[in-house]
Amino acid sequence: MKKLLALHFLFMTSLLLARTLPLPWSPPVHWASLERYNMTITAEELKSLLSDVYVPDGSWKSWITISRETAFIEPYPGAPERLQLALAPSREAARPRPRYWKEPQERVPLPGKPLAGLTIALDPGHLGGSWAKMEERWFRLGKTRPIEEGTMTLLEARLLAKDLRALGAHVLFTRDHLGPTTPLRPWQLRRIAIEQLKEEGHSSWTSTQLKKREEILFYRIAEIHHRAQLVNEYLKPDLVLALHFDAEEWGDPAKPQLKDSNRFHLLVSGNFTDQELKREQERYILLRKLLGRVHQEEVGIADAIAKAFLATAEAPPPPFIYHNPQVARPALPSSPYLWNRNLLATRLMEAPVIFIEAYSMNDPLVFQRLQWGDYQGTRLLGGKAYPSIYREYAQAIEEGLLHYFSAKTPPHSLKNSCPLRPLS
Ligand SMILES: [Zn+2]
Repeated sequence: MKKLLALHFLFMTSLLLARTLPLPWSPPVHWASLERYNMTITAEELKSLLSDVYVPDGSWKSWITISRETAFIEPYPGAPERLQLALAPSREAARPRPRYWKEPQERVPLPGKPLAGLTIALDPGHLGGSWAKMEERWFRLGKTRPIEEGTMTLLEARLLAKDLRALGAHVLFTRDHLGPTTPLRPWQLRRIAIEQLKEEGHSSWTSTQLKKREEILFYRIAEIHHRAQLVNEYLKPDLVLALHFDAEEWGDPAKPQLKDSNRFHLLVSGNFTDQELKREQERYILLRKLLGRVHQEEVGIADAIAKAFLATAEAPPPPFIYHNPQVARPALPSSPYLWNRNLLATRLMEAPVIFIEAYSMNDPLVFQRLQWGDYQGTRLLGGKAYPSIYREYAQAIEEGLLHYFSAKTPPHSLKNSCPLRPLS
């Protein structure tokens, strides 16, 4: 009996572990949930978003057939039934789509608080601090201040949050400390790492290779899934700003190469490839992102930030150009700074997301400015005065947002919403 009980306990424990083992590959594919988008989009708009933004290589046609009234979606090869999404006959007849974020015209700004009513989630890229070496976002030239992207993005987010709050925005963080937000750690991902290595055809591997794979799954996949879950289920912002610093390949992190490589670009979700669409989860997430219809707003905000950045920066950087259309394609014909790219964070977060890649950390001038850290006023180099690179970055975002949102705010709303108007 004792033995039986012990076995039962073991069985229950393993069952419990199996059911509660936190899988990083969220969210689950739930095709039926797309029914909530019935009658929210026209056939023309759906076709245009698929062909021009999300799947420009045309491979969506293997999975989706669009008639005037219905989009037929094949959930997986050989599925007994195709999912049917009812399409609206016209934009005017379309039902409002379900979403947790407000659109710019739904905000109620206040006098002197031009960003009031706007909830912004800041997503400081990477982990920083003692995790920076593991995530390969660390280099150090001699005895200089180490460059840790995840530490710098957190400093940037804190500066930006202060300014955005002064402008009336409600600001939240996906990460407000150095380190990960996911409770998972690399060793807990060993089983998935081994499965992945086997799937790739490896029959053996070294402990270093396995450790590396566990770490990549941890900081690149589990962490980003966790942040996306935070955004979609708890923070529910109107806009997400993913803050990053770019870099050119620096080689050995203990003897990094500095190169004239300063550049700047912004990414929004799009450009899924035929290979990516072979994965069922990616097809599901693609449709969820597309049907949320955030692309136009993402591009509008990204363009406003890019313009402000070029007007603000002391040394305006050239755009970073992608040469492989499989990786990224231009998001706006009039701007070389904006790209559609299929990144995990931008596709998983349902609200509008702008992924900002500013500066190049191993460009000699940027490197020098990063060595100075944050400061008030300006510092001289070669006869030219430079503000803190962090403040310059924040100022460009603020000005871009002010420009975009003030243009989108209906002129009557400021007057009608003024709570300080004296009673007559
Ligand atoms: Zn980054």
